Amino acid sequence: MIGERLNAAINDQIKNELESYYIYLSMAAYFHSNSLDGMGHWMRAQAHEEMIHAMKFMEHLIDRDGKVVLQDLQQLKTEWSSPLEAFQDALEHEKFISGKINDLTSIAREEKDYASEPLLAWFTDEQIEEEASAGKVADELAMIGEDKSALLMLDRELGARAYPPGSPLDPAAVSAQ
Ligand code: MG
Repeated sequence: MIGERLNAAINDQIKNELESYYIYLSMAAYFHSNSLDGMGHWMRAQAHEEMIHAMKFMEHLIDRDGKVVLQDLQQLKTEWSSPLEAFQDALEHEKFISGKINDLTSIAREEKDYASEPLLAWFTDEQIEEEASAGKVADELAMIGEDKSALLMLDRELGARAYPPGSPLDPAAVSAQ
């Protein structure tokens, strides 16, 4: 059975992951409303991953005889002044999440909760990838500057990101219902 302190911290992290889902969905809407559908698609696929992250933590609490307590979500931001600002925010948000995963790992070690280590190690690896992917796009957008044709090329490239099969965020899945 999982201890109370780690259980509470994981409930906080479920909220953080669901807020990540929410902010990327909000960014997807921002990009679609500005006709950058590739970036909107990239953000939808990102939002899908965040829902999976929340569910990984929820499953862990269920498996460990813990207690899942879902918390209120905040809408963190709804408007961005440019694609660059949105991806810079995404990078900053992922750095914040990485800090939270580090905190969870510290708590698990202090509580000698070794059963949580494989899950937290998976998230530590995942955060390296999350920061790298958001950071790469932010760097590319900074290089692009005001070059609209380069922006459209990057938009097409990001539109090629694959959805996980059956994703409810895929417009094809939504219209098939
Ligand atoms: Mg996440």
